[in-house]
This record gives sequence, structure tokens and C-alpha cells, in this order.
Amino acid sequence: MTRICNNCNFENQDDYDFCAKCGTPLVEGLKPARVYVYRSELPKVNRKVIIAAYIVTIFLSWSGFVVGLISKNTIFATFTFFGFFMPFYLVQSKHPTLKRHGLIMMAISFVGVALSFYVLLN
Ligand SMILES: [Zn+2]
Repeated sequence: MTRICNNCNFENQDDYDFCAKCGTPLVEGLKPARVYVYRSELPKVNRKVIIAAYIVTIFLSWSGFVVGLISKNTIFATFTFFGFFMPFYLVQSKHPTLKRHGLIMMAISFVGVALSFYVLLN
């Protein structure tokens, strides 16, 4: 959950009472005596780490499907569930960038699982 600022549409953490970007109260009826506006510097996300996470997720969630399809051995299709480890870890991150990538990886894993089930049931 995030608190969207009515003034600037900035997505604040749900425990913020004031917008971190412009200082507008995020809770109705709250009138600040003085507002401190500061930019919280988020740590930069290492691109290589994100790319590696994508590779691991795609490999884990899709290899079961591919191996299952080639070998006709459906037991490999269940391997696909390991693909959820990385996105499940990332979506719990407080960092919005990591969270967003986690959700994309979750979607990739879902497709992998769906394909694996297709192999499993055919
Ligand atoms: Zn704002």
C-alpha cells in the first residue's frame, strides 16, 4: 500500500503522514505547523543485479517447461515453481524499483508456470 499525494501524485510509503516530495498532508484533517520537505535519496539499484535476477527468474520458471517439452518428461515441469523465489523476495522490498521489477518477474514466472501446466496436462 502506498499513499498517493493529492498535490503532486508522488507515491509515499503508507506510514508517511506528509508527502515526502512536496510536504502536503496525506491524512485528512492533518494540519502541519511546519513542514519539512526533504528528498530521501534512494540507494541506486545495480543494473547488473536486476539483469541477473531476470536471467535467474526466466531460467528457473521456463527451463522446466522447455526441458519437459523436449524430454516429454513432465516431472521437469514442476521445477518451474522455483522461478517464484526471486520475484517473491523482490516484491517484499521497500525499494520501489526493486518492487516493480519483482512484479514483472512474478508475471514472467506465472507464464512459465502456466506453460508448464500445459505440458504437464498434455
Ligand atoms: Zn506531494
